[in-house]
Amino acid sequence: MDMQTNLLDRLFDAGLLIDTGVDGLYGRSGAFEDVIARFEALIARHAPEATAEVIRFPPGMNRAHFEGSGYMKSFPQLAGTVHSFCGCELDHVNLLQCMAEGDDWTGKQEATDVVLTPAACYPLYPTIAKRGPLPEGGGLFDLQSYCFRHEPSKDPARMQLFRMREFVRIGTPDDVMAFRSDWMERGSTLVSAVGLDVELDTANDPFFGRAGKMLGNNQREQKLKFELLIPVTSATTKTACLSFNYHQDHFGQTWGLKTVNGETAHTACVGFGLERIALALFARHGLDTADWPEPVRKALWG
Ligand code: ATP
Ligand code: ZN
Ligand code: MG
Repeated sequence: MDMQTNLLDRLFDAGLLIDTGVDGLYGRSGAFEDVIARFEALIARHAPEATAEVIRFPPGMNRAHFEGSGYMKSFPQLAGTVHSFCGCELDHVNLLQCMAEGDDWTGKQEATDVVLTPAACYPLYPTIAKRGPLPEGGGLFDLQSYCFRHEPSKDPARMQLFRMREFVRIGTPDDVMAFRSDWMERGSTLVSAVGLDVELDTANDPFFGRAGKMLGNNQREQKLKFELLIPVTSATTKTACLSFNYHQDHFGQTWGLKTVNGETAHTACVGFGLERIALALFARHGLDTADWPEPVRKALWG
């Protein structure tokens, strides 16, 4: 049995993750959630971003904002839309009959105004653009959301619904670059504080198709994306647990984000994969938090 399935089975057996019958869709135990809550509290203690504006969006976003973001151009394979039954009583009778006969009933569902959020920062940009130009000094935001990506896998670190904690900086190129490099350092310190081995590397997003390969190479060459890699299922193939993204003026152009001087704003975000961090901790220190090394327990539970 490979390592991934092995860890997943051990997590199921320990009751930390709960099998729903769908790969990448799991329930979480109280102990698992406690680790995430404690780690988020640790992030808050390390973040000098006490001035960040806290915003919590639900895990679904405005479909028009999703369409405007260009997500379907880059990652159509990962997106998840919300469809609903919008028919009359006769349609309902047909629907139930369809289900009873084991036929496909989903084709008749209609698209709603809601799309599942693919990354915690996507709903932010149009929201901030709507406010008008940014104030002096730009903007700094603290986000957390469940995110959906259609990438079913036996790898417990590749879920379809997972939480991303993000800090987002909107401002001048200098401001957002400084924000990102600060977080690359801070992220490593934070993860080391809980006894995990870290490695920082350049990365690229899985842009769709042949043209996407070029976009990915370009992203890597320009160092637009860095990842903090931590062993989860394997010591050799590490897992990206934090991402540091510089979008240049992509979202600024897309949504008309302006600095106080009327220039197109640049944006950068740091994203913590909260389940991945919890999984890295369980993989490294054992499935019972009571047995974790004292310094790690102290960092998390005080
Ligand atoms: P990967 O290369 O492993 O697919 P990613 O580049 O898609 O990761 P981002 O798009 O940068 O990741 O997302 C931000 C963070 O969210 C990642 O650093 C990771 O910790 C987490 N994350 C991404 N995809 C998943 C997933 N399928 N399951 C759990 N966490 C995820
Ligand atoms: Zn982001
Ligand atoms: Mg991915």
